[in-house]
Amino acid sequence: MYSFNNKTVLVTGSSRGIGKAIVQAFAENGANVVINYVSSERPANELAESIRESGGNALVVKGDVSSFNDAERIVNEAIDTFGKIDILINNSGITKDNLMLRMTEDDFDRVVEVNLKGTWNMCKNVTRHFLKNKAGSIINITSVVGIIGNPGQSNYVASKAGIIGLTKSLAKEFGSRHIRVNAVAPGFIETEMTDQLPDEAKQAYLKQIPLNEFGSVQDIANACLFLASDEAKYITGQTLSVNGGMI
Ligand code: NAP
Repeated sequence: MYSFNNKTVLVTGSSRGIGKAIVQAFAENGANVVINYVSSERPANELAESIRESGGNALVVKGDVSSFNDAERIVNEAIDTFGKIDILINNSGITKDNLMLRMTEDDFDRVVEVNLKGTWNMCKNVTRHFLKNKAGSIINITSVVGIIGNPGQSNYVASKAGIIGLTKSLAKEFGSRHIRVNAVAPGFIETEMTDQLPDEAKQAYLKQIPLNEFGSVQDIANACLFLASDEAKYITGQTLSVNGGMI
């Protein structure tokens, strides 16, 4: 168990999948949680309700992270409700896979807008607040493919590799202000995003995983708990791989 009592964590794209598990893990460890969604309104409200029923504090904010104005509003609503934000977890992400020869310019742009620009938008708005507080922790969710590349995902891989560079740069810009910035790079985690893959693709991935199983959303939540905790106070600018040994 960690103690995040009196801490507020904002997790983007957190009504389902990995984001939901992160929110639940932080709520179980005492944090006030801000749940963000763009289309999954009912799951977001149900998650907040279940956290409140267990004695926790949860706020739901609708917003598209690829919009700078929405990012600013998400941050402001969180601060208006809980007084401050201590931890930002940029988890929102989309895929629009295709080989480059068939990928449209719109599909490239949209994935980069949500995954990379969305992460930048949230970091930009929350760091102003962290500077005033003289503390803060950011965790950006990237991907194993952002490190090793993947055919058919040039848009997604470019966005996720960009997130790793963004993480390293912000760690250097803000380190002297006691703001830590790290990334978590999941491997193959069982969620709706990976459910879309054909069975042959899943079997091919499994062969590349030394631990011989897919990861769970809890595995990613556990990495986030550690990186956001005081136990990781000397860790910044790093990308923590959680992939069963894939790379
Ligand atoms: P998921 O189940 O598809 O969920 C994606 C989340 O992102 C949803 O909550 C969605 O919100 C939100 N989202 C999408 N567009 C958004 C936008 N414009 N603004 C705000 N939120 C937006 O995905 P997941 O598998 O949990 O993945 C979560 C993160 O982990 C992603 O960044 C993904 O790239 C990364 N990752 C996943 C895996 C894996 O194996 N699953 C592996 C490596 C990395 P709505 O539901 O409201 O639309």
